[in-house]
Amino acid sequence: MPILGRAARQGRPPDALHGERAARASSLFPSCANPLCLTSWLHLWRNRQVPVFEGGWSCSEECTRERIAVSVRHEMDGQQPEPVEHHHRVPLGLLMLSEGWISQAQLKAALRTQKAAGHGRLGSWLIRDAHIEERLVTRALSLQWNCPVFSMQGPPDQGLGSIAPRLLVEAFGILPIRVAGGKVLYVGFEDRIDRCVMFAIERITGLRVEAGLVDTSEFVRAHSTLLAGSSFAKATLIEAVDAKAMIQALTQLVERAKPADARLVRVHNCYWMRMWHGVRSTEVPFRRVGIEDVICSIGSTN
Ligand SMILES: [Zn+2]
Repeated sequence: MPILGRAARQGRPPDALHGERAARASSLFPSCANPLCLTSWLHLWRNRQVPVFEGGWSCSEECTRERIAVSVRHEMDGQQPEPVEHHHRVPLGLLMLSEGWISQAQLKAALRTQKAAGHGRLGSWLIRDAHIEERLVTRALSLQWNCPVFSMQGPPDQGLGSIAPRLLVEAFGILPIRVAGGKVLYVGFEDRIDRCVMFAIERITGLRVEAGLVDTSEFVRAHSTLLAGSSFAKATLIEAVDAKAMIQALTQLVERAKPADARLVRVHNCYWMRMWHGVRSTEVPFRRVGIEDVICSIGSTN
């Protein structure tokens, strides 16, 4: 937002900001990223170049708070129910039956056991009781989700753990597999593709995420190796009573850490903010040094 425009909008005569002087001033002093900033440009002596949030510098704690509030509201408005496609997936059993991978009797038996047990996925019961190959179940899931099947070639790259906070990697079953060409991140899931997680990782890292399914046994092994051996970035957990409290807590963290950049995304019912203390680089998005994560959840108010 040009300084001139701001002064004019607030009804102040832009006399001191005329012509070349104003142009020089705004190029010398980058303006605050908060469109509602009330600070006069005369006060913007560069004793602070940081914090930067979502690519824009804010001149004061008030402006940082306003920018975070806008971002939180934006993320909240983006809360959509599951895409319609979710409700139109062919049930796994029917799909496997139509492919001829299981028999009517096998399906009925597995459904019966699943119902009696009251838990577990149909695929697991088919593997356990009907001795269906795990690979076939994964293949059927990949048809259901219209995605590829990935297989792990060797142990997971421990350096990829810090692509996301440990809490999210664990809670949402995220298995980062590899980065190709510094642009594409391959992420494995066990039994469904979590598009909300994919989108969040894309926005935070700047990498394009290609998601696929991994055989359960392979997934469990690789995921636990990753959790045990990876160094995750420093993370702070915040439980806020409401959005206002969350905005305040995030503002304080940003003002204290003074990051060179920070991004906020929503991942299902929580919010993930990543702060970079150096230049945010898409080439090495997962170096854990110089990165700080904040996970925020809003509790019920009753
Ligand atoms: Zn400002």
